[in-house]
Amino acid sequence: MDLPVDEWKSYILQKWSLLPKSIQVTISTAKTLNDLFLHSSPLLQPEDEMFLKRLSGGYLVGKDPDASLFYREKGNKKFQEKDYMGATVLYSKGVSHSGPNSTDISLCYANRSAALFHLGQYETCLKDIVRAQTHGYPERLQPKLLLRKAECLVTLGRPQEASQTISDLESNFAAKPTLSASQFQILQRTLCRVKVKVHEKENLPEVFPEALTKTFEAVALREENEQIPSASSSVSLHRDPLKGRCLVATKDILPGELLVKEDAFVSVLNPGEMPPRRHGLESKWDIQVTNGDLHCHRCLRRTLAPVPCDGCSYAKYCSQECMQQAWDRYHGVECSLGALLLTLGVFCHVALRSALLARFEDVGKVIKKLCGEMSNQGICLPESEDPAQILKYDLRGEGEKKDKAVETPIPGCDINGKYERNYNAVFHLLPHTENHSPEHKFLCALSVSALCRQLEAAGLQAFTTDLKPTKLKAAETPVLCAELNVWGVAMLRHMLQLQCNAQAITTIQHTGSKENLITDTQQVRLATALFPVVSLLNHSCSPNTSVSFIGTIATIRASQLIRRGQEIFHCYGPHESRMGVAERRQKLRSQYFFDCDCPPCERERQRPSAGPGREAFRCHRCRALLQGDDVLSCGGPACMESVSRDLLVSRLQDLQRQVGAAQKRLRDGRLELAIQLLLGCQSDAESFLSADHSVVGEIEDTLAQAYAALGDWEKSATHLQESLRVVEVHHGPSSVEMGHELFKLAQVFFNGCAIPEALNTIQKAEKVLLVHYGPWNDEIQELQKMKSCLLDLLPIPEGPQE
Ligand SMILES: [Zn+2]
Ligand SMILES: [Zn+2]
Ligand SMILES: [Zn+2]
Ligand SMILES: [Zn+2]
Repeated sequence: MDLPVDEWKSYILQKWSLLPKSIQVTISTAKTLNDLFLHSSPLLQPEDEMFLKRLSGGYLVGKDPDASLFYREKGNKKFQEKDYMGATVLYSKGVSHSGPNSTDISLCYANRSAALFHLGQYETCLKDIVRAQTHGYPERLQPKLLLRKAECLVTLGRPQEASQTISDLESNFAAKPTLSASQFQILQRTLCRVKVKVHEKENLPEVFPEALTKTFEAVALREENEQIPSASSSVSLHRDPLKGRCLVATKDILPGELLVKEDAFVSVLNPGEMPPRRHGLESKWDIQVTNGDLHCHRCLRRTLAPVPCDGCSYAKYCSQECMQQAWDRYHGVECSLGALLLTLGVFCHVALRSALLARFEDVGKVIKKLCGEMSNQGICLPESEDPAQILKYDLRGEGEKKDKAVETPIPGCDINGKYERNYNAVFHLLPHTENHSPEHKFLCALSVSALCRQLEAAGLQAFTTDLKPTKLKAAETPVLCAELNVWGVAMLRHMLQLQCNAQAITTIQHTGSKENLITDTQQVRLATALFPVVSLLNHSCSPNTSVSFIGTIATIRASQLIRRGQEIFHCYGPHESRMGVAERRQKLRSQYFFDCDCPPCERERQRPSAGPGREAFRCHRCRALLQGDDVLSCGGPACMESVSRDLLVSRLQDLQRQVGAAQKRLRDGRLELAIQLLLGCQSDAESFLSADHSVVGEIEDTLAQAYAALGDWEKSATHLQESLRVVEVHHGPSSVEMGHELFKLAQVFFNGCAIPEALNTIQKAEKVLLVHYGPWNDEIQELQKMKSCLLDLLPIPEGPQE
């Protein structure tokens, strides 16, 4: 997904292998990104472009009226089955395939408004009604729409507007009696409700996006850092001769304190499993739902009722405003390149968008500044106005910089030492050019070249025009009108930077069936982004912070006490509690090009085989833990049992398959059978796995869900407590994993009306989740609702003591 599709990757790799040795050497030993790009780019032949075009042709990104009709009919079917959520999503797909101001689009909007009405999303429903009308909803169907509008307004407690709508409707009816008898009845009923003045405004769970807007404002840094505007004054930017830039605590920091709150410089929504590549005749519109259908392509907020780009079926937004902003800033250029960008992958897309966003800063100044800085560091360039020179960033520069650290300004900062979330900072993120393989660099260079050719072919002078006139000062025009090549080199740099600097924007998705009221959570990747300030943090496999996202904003909070002078760390992915030391080090080496020396890595390296660990096997005779490598022997006194690791591993795999099968039964609602299977798994696990094994925890957690689905809250709680114990062993008592598990337990106690236990668990869950997410997290809000509900139930007004 990040890199180009496999077909293009292997095509380019083959092309590379067929290149004459001399050319391979020239490219492999290119001293600058500029050289790398200029030597690779001419190798892209018309037939290569044709091949790429064929690949891109498989993506359905244009509008197709037939698809619009197809999705609307599918949506109607779901609507009849009373699956209003399913219907809403399908109508949205219909909307995105219809052109603006067409009957198709107005019908899709109108139908979607009906589904939203049934979902209780009245505000959103009203918006869709207006959209249907502005796109030319047929006159003869108007009454139906106006009725729905009136009903929404009544429910929202806006009787005056409802009355107005009703009188519009009545005059409409008087003029053209198009109402059927049943519609007339509904009209009468609605009128009655208005007349009794339904004032009580039910507070409806209109979750998105209004609630999130509130969240944005509520999360604020206590005191902003003067040097780094998106960070708190509790940290400062340092430069370490060995590790480069880093953030250090300027005072003691308590768990939960917000340290960084940064809006992404650039972000691109990940398309997910989709969109489909159609292969020849089996072309069909799919009805699969992905993140791209449910989140705004600009601000990433979840939305049930997206509005599509007028020019493509792919880009969708939460509002007209987001659509306009995206169009002005980047989508105006990207729109016609949708299929190509899907083929070339998210990194290439982020690279293009970064360059497009750079246009909105004073590019001339940025470029001049870069010139100055580079010559200061002795890395390259005489003072020059020629932008083609700018990107001749010496590859050996990064190594050299280490030597003359302190005196030179910190890269990415302006002359006053200020580090801002801007293109200058993005440009200075390290591309680690010398660490990437020649093949990879060639792939990136040719992908960017192909993109540049398309920009040219489409007549899109992306980087020179399209700008608001005020941004274009006459004197800088020559700089801005620079060859596309210059921006090609910049995009190549971004593509290489992304491997180490891309930050996945994730969201917690709540899964689990509605009946059992227990939510399970799952982290999903929403977008790929660049955050210049977050990028200042170094990695630790046991970090002292926790990161979470609200839309495109990243927040980093201290997850433990951080002493003054200590470095602030976050985890790039390989976390101590999820991966063994060997696997972590391998991942960090191959993706981030460094050897981790964080405390857990050092500890585990110094005593590599320190006992069997948490994921241990145990002896089936005496239950003592087994130890050893290929052949494990029992550590129990007077027990001679030994067994091969292969055997145990295959037993474990069998067990995992069994658990998977039980989980499927659970999802299918075959609860009794699921429980029966799980109890079997449980006793099997007991016979050869340590009590802290993660599979043991998984079995307990699934059992808890199954009992919850049966309404047996007591049993559910017992199993969940077992699962909680295993989570604690693996992730620690104040981990975010622990927070989610405690949240589930609180729900179980709540549903089982175990009031003191519930209150106690709510308190624990709140405490843990607050540190990681701050007060505006969904789960915390939910816990507070549960708490106030329970306190109402208590006979004595005071809360219980712990
Ligand atoms: Zn949006
Ligand atoms: Zn578009
Ligand atoms: Zn480590
Ligand atoms: Zn034994």
